[in-house]
Amino acid sequence: MAITKTDFINYTRCKRYAALEEVKREKLEADISYETYKELELKENLSEIVSSMYEINEETGIETNLLEKVDRQLEAMMEYYKLVEIEAGRIATKTFGGKSVYAEKTKEQECFDFSLNGIHYVCYVDIYNEKEDEINIIEVKATTSKKYMDLMAGHKKCEKFSIWKRINNINYLKGECFDYNLETEMPLEEYEKKREKLFDRYRLGQYIYDLSIQRYFIEHELISTHTEEKLTKFHYYLGVLNTDYVFDGTYEGKNPIYNSDSEGNELITFFDMTQITEEYQKLIDIDRKNLEIYLQNLDVTPCPLSVSCSYKSRIECKYFSTLCGNMIPKSNSSMHYIHNNAGFLREDGTRIKGLDLINEGYRNMLDVPECWITKNYHRIQRESIELDKVYIDKEKILAGLSQLEYPIYHLDFETMPCPVPRFRGEWPYIQSPFEFSLHIEHAPGVCDKDKDNIVFLAKTHKDEREEMIQLMLKYMNPDKGTLLSQNVAFEKGRIKELASMFPDYRMDLMKLYNRGFDLLWIVNTNSKMYEDLGFDEERSKTFNFYDKRLSGSFSIKKTLPVFSNLSYDNLVVKNGTEAIVEYANYEKMSKEEYELKYQALIAYCKQDTWAMVEILNALRNLVKDLSKNGENVVMFT
Ligand code: SF4
Repeated sequence: MAITKTDFINYTRCKRYAALEEVKREKLEADISYETYKELELKENLSEIVSSMYEINEETGIETNLLEKVDRQLEAMMEYYKLVEIEAGRIATKTFGGKSVYAEKTKEQECFDFSLNGIHYVCYVDIYNEKEDEINIIEVKATTSKKYMDLMAGHKKCEKFSIWKRINNINYLKGECFDYNLETEMPLEEYEKKREKLFDRYRLGQYIYDLSIQRYFIEHELISTHTEEKLTKFHYYLGVLNTDYVFDGTYEGKNPIYNSDSEGNELITFFDMTQITEEYQKLIDIDRKNLEIYLQNLDVTPCPLSVSCSYKSRIECKYFSTLCGNMIPKSNSSMHYIHNNAGFLREDGTRIKGLDLINEGYRNMLDVPECWITKNYHRIQRESIELDKVYIDKEKILAGLSQLEYPIYHLDFETMPCPVPRFRGEWPYIQSPFEFSLHIEHAPGVCDKDKDNIVFLAKTHKDEREEMIQLMLKYMNPDKGTLLSQNVAFEKGRIKELASMFPDYRMDLMKLYNRGFDLLWIVNTNSKMYEDLGFDEERSKTFNFYDKRLSGSFSIKKTLPVFSNLSYDNLVVKNGTEAIVEYANYEKMSKEEYELKYQALIAYCKQDTWAMVEILNALRNLVKDLSKNGENVVMFT
């Protein structure tokens, strides 16, 4: 029976997982081959890149099922993943010195294994770096340094500092740096609280848990082969993409050359996890013992849903949607109450939220006892189902519409969130635009689907950003009108980045940036804007429109069918992820396929902005019809 690192992570989630895997016992009974091992690990590692292809915005409700991963997406991103691994190997040798064995020389990758109680535990090491007196084990992840550097603390009302200090491209916990005067920056308790987050295996500690399993396997191999004297030579690091790195645009032929940037940053940076993984060993040992019990008992009875299921995260358990969590209603479940992170206050003073609501039988929105509902917007959500009515705040919608200046530029970007930067001025995982669609609405309702539409779509993978900016500025007057998008912060973010990378266009781009307005401020709300317009705090916080079909989300997928008959079903490219895949696959296409997919990409992006024109028009007509009854806040069938 063979257990890889990925198996270990999954089998220790809960007692049920191993039993559900029983159907695949052939795999467990065999000794695992290098090829099978790599295939399993690769899929796991690529999931970080694939998850970056989705837009998840809790505030606006834009959310996508991360389980809709298909092999084409993985394939499309494969070359970038390989590049991350190879660059990590190169930069590891530059940073640590000595010799490194890494992905480029696949079959030579160092393998560690040991057997215990009839189970063969096995792992391969991404980078094995060896010097005379030191062995560095480096786990490479296509994630960014930001999530770790953002662990910040400080004294009350003072500047906040990261708990990490970077020295020669290696990040050390400040508490582990010799002679570092930590208390001048933050109270020790605050530092410890932040450090503790590294031990949450289902959130920030996810990759450190992974590295700690490797350490466990390595140390057990050394012990079982009576080479314990080597233990002290080992150091453990995570190698991740450096968010501070800016690509200078150097190429050799078509290939980018990732030199150190002007600030001395490298594309990959390393986090010293030697002490943390040491502290993890006790926990891994407990998990290993549990794993053996689970495998022995094979208890298939349901367990309570919990953090182990990693619901809606990139590492969601594969049995969640198909089995364990399939009783959760697809729409209007108790977890679809908006802005409900704090959960509900029960009569006994305790709080309940998320999966615990499901575990305790409160599955539907209406299962939640009425006396627990204290927020106005939750009451509206509930009444929309109970009374089968739509909520409309006509006065707020009219006030929102009055803020629009004409022409309205309905704008939407398609972007490539590439793990490695591709063009000058970019950094890892920047959302690099390769397409935009613009519909120009000259006066209320005056916009032709075809004549008033401009689409830019990059023809190649070369840098076509300047051409794109020129086309935007040719049709969008920076001194007049409104830049309108659904989730405008995204479009504004891209415009600001382009402004910083192309100084010749900076002033005009920033004028456009300042004209940004979100379609959701009219459908949903914008507390500050409505308070400034004279609405009271409670009403400003409450959405302007609610229909039970929204099921707690204001994503375009939910709002479009409520306001329009437009559908993406008949399009070749149906969503943003498919758009990225088609663009990423340009060079693999035949001429005919390229022509077809190029037009499909244009049709998809055009539909995104036309959808906004239709939604805006529907909102205008809605309040126009309501004007007859003179009511401001209404519920109607
Ligand atoms: S979905 Fe949750 S309860 Fe079910 S097997 Fe996975 S971790 Fe266990």
